[in-house]
Amino acid sequence: MSNDAYNPWQMALHQLKEVADRIGLEPDMRAILSHPRRTLSVSIPTRMDDGSLQVFEGFRVQHNMTRGPCKGGIRYHPDVTLDEVKALAMWMTWKCAVVNIPYGGAKGGVICNPKKMSEGELERLTRRYTSELLPFIGPERDIPAPDVGTNPKVMAWIMDTFSMNKGYCVPGVVTGKPLSIGGSLGRNEATARGCVFVVLAAARRYGLRDNTPTAVVQGYGNAGAICARLLDESGFHVIAVSDSQGGILNPKGLDPAAVGEHKRKTGSVVGFHGSATITNEELLTTGCDLLVPAALENQITVKNAGQISARLIAEAANGPTTPEADRILESRGIAVIPDILANAGGVTVSYFEWVQSLQAYFWSERAVNLQLRDIMQRAYHDVQEHADREECPLRTAAMSLAVSRVAEAHRARGVYP
Ligand code: NAD
Repeated sequence: MSNDAYNPWQMALHQLKEVADRIGLEPDMRAILSHPRRTLSVSIPTRMDDGSLQVFEGFRVQHNMTRGPCKGGIRYHPDVTLDEVKALAMWMTWKCAVVNIPYGGAKGGVICNPKKMSEGELERLTRRYTSELLPFIGPERDIPAPDVGTNPKVMAWIMDTFSMNKGYCVPGVVTGKPLSIGGSLGRNEATARGCVFVVLAAARRYGLRDNTPTAVVQGYGNAGAICARLLDESGFHVIAVSDSQGGILNPKGLDPAAVGEHKRKTGSVVGFHGSATITNEELLTTGCDLLVPAALENQITVKNAGQISARLIAEAANGPTTPEADRILESRGIAVIPDILANAGGVTVSYFEWVQSLQAYFWSERAVNLQLRDIMQRAYHDVQEHADREECPLRTAAMSLAVSRVAEAHRARGVYP
């Protein structure tokens, strides 16, 4: 992305400046928080299956480690840029601070197309990338996790490479690992479960307790499909859902588990029996109490924000609402639970996974879910109270709270030396 207007790092800096102005952050603190603490750029020579050698470019950015070790995913995608990784690292700092878990933010990325690489090529790339990061990652320094294009298998290769170099098993170096090597129960569902806990905590306030509230969910992957199922289990009527191929609507309510089964068999939610086919555009403007965007960024824009008729939007996806659309929704009285709060359940259970790995003591799924509920409810109430006090939208409140917490930690520690 060459245009600064669409540069994610410039956008992240702009958001920080707006919040800093609002909370009256001192110039020194603005300067500190506007710079990533460490930016590492590495080249990753990788032997391909045909015998050729390809050199990939990779990054790890550690934005902040004042409240604890850095935490953030690793992305494998052809469009990865250093500025994108820097922005994602900063957003992780705010996300960890909103839910008040003792981490700073980081992010990693490798410019590659994992869909076009064999498993062997991906393993060699991952192990070499990990060895370049060795001095900078570790349970007490920086703990990677999966993101777009990476998965538990990639985390297992990172954990193994790190452990082989140490000479002993270090499960706490990554989260999102397979259960067999120290992954946490409940991690797979955590993002959706955390989102639903926040929605339930906000339900009374936003009038979702009357009769049977209706919900619409965009995206039927890890976040969306599990969200739809948990909303249904919590008494919502899930009336419309969608994936990249289109949407389906049944005003009487869909059975999310059966829709999931249909998607497994046919590759899409479209064509589910008893439902009408709609476009993703129609889905977003379907009348409902709760709208959960759980697919991609930039879905709610100036083009459709005027037609959205939900009472509450919970952003399970990262960045689904543009800043201009935010202003329109606010003027229309539609509340938005921002991504850094609504989808923080994933990083919260990653935190539990790290704690379990460090202690070599593993929790039941029930214990994981109860602790997750406590943290998500407390985070929602903190943000809602701040929004009420400052008379601002939840997104502004969440960002203000996060930046204030990180700044407070910096003030307490002082500037070294
Ligand atoms: P996923 O790949 O499992 O699912 C994405 C879903 O979106 C798929 O069903 C896909 O068909 C659908 N989709 C793609 N393009 C679409 C379009 N144009 N319209 C409607 N649907 C479309 O991904 P995921 O893990 O569920 O992540 C979804 C969002 O949630 C992303 O923004 C991600 O960053 C965010 N998120 C996920 C997690 C997590 O733990 N999975 C954590 C935090 C944030």
